[in-house]
Amino acid sequence: IIKISDIKRDFALGSEIVYVLKGVDLEIEKGEYVALMGPSGSGKSTLMNILGCLDTPTSGNYTLNGKDVSEMDEKSLAEIRNKEIGFVFQTFNLLPRTTALDNVALPMIYAGKSKSERNERAAEVLEQVGLGDRMDHHPNQLSGGQRQRVAVARALVNHPSIILADEPTGNLDSKTSVEIMMLFDEIHAKGNTVILVTHEEDIAAHAHRIIRLRDGVVESDNRIK
Ligand code: ATP
Ligand code: MG
Repeated sequence: IIKISDIKRDFALGSEIVYVLKGVDLEIEKGEYVALMGPSGSGKSTLMNILGCLDTPTSGNYTLNGKDVSEMDEKSLAEIRNKEIGFVFQTFNLLPRTTALDNVALPMIYAGKSKSERNERAAEVLEQVGLGDRMDHHPNQLSGGQRQRVAVARALVNHPSIILADEPTGNLDSKTSVEIMMLFDEIHAKGNTVILVTHEEDIAAHAHRIIRLRDGVVESDNRIK
C-alpha cells in the first residue's frame, strides 16, 4: 500500500541547506499498525507529512495504493489527501467556530457529497468514536480527549485507506491517551492501515511494528506482534 524508496527531504534555510531525511526506504502493507519513533528532530513529522501528501520529497519515489505520488501536482495530491488519507495532529486542528458535526463533515464538502449525506455520515462516525451526544458542541466546549476524538472522526469520514497520526496523544494525559489508543486499536481492527508517531513506549506497544528513525534514516524496524 505504501512504498517509499530513497526518500530525501531537505529545506533551504537562508543560505544554508538543512538535510532532514537522508534516504528512507519503507514498505508498509495494507492493514499494518505501525509506530514511528525516534528522537526529537530525527525527521518523524517530515516523513509523516510526505506519507500524508502534505509535503513532497526533494528526491526519491513514493508509491501509494499503486500510484506514483512523488511526481503528482498539487491538485492531484489534494485529491489523494482528501480521499485516501486521514491525518490526525497532536494539536487536533479543529475549526474553533464550528460544531463537532460540521468539523467532521468538512472533508466531505471537498469530496462533493450532498449536505444530507454529509450530516448522516458525520453523525455516524461521531457515534463510532463515542461522541454521539456531543455533535453540536464547539471545540472549546469539549475536553482534550473529546477534541481528539472529533479529529479522529474527521480523519475517518471519507473512508481513507490509511490513517496517519503525528503524536495524537502528545497533548493528552495518560488516561485519555489510553482511551484514544483504544480507538486506534479499533480502527486498525476494522482493517485500516494505521501509522502513528509517538515518543512513548507504552503507546508504541499498541502497534504491531515499530520503526525508529535517527538523524533522517531508519535505525531499526521491528515487528513486535
Ligand atoms: P519531534 O519529535 O520534536 O516532533 P520530529 O522527528 O518530528 O521531531 P521534524 O519535525 O521532522 O522532527 O524535523 C526534523 C528536522 O527538520 C528538525 O531539525 C527541523 O528543524 C527541520 N525542519 C523541519 N521542517 C523544516 C522547514 N520547513 N525548514 C527548515 N527546517 C525544517
Ligand atoms: Mg514531530
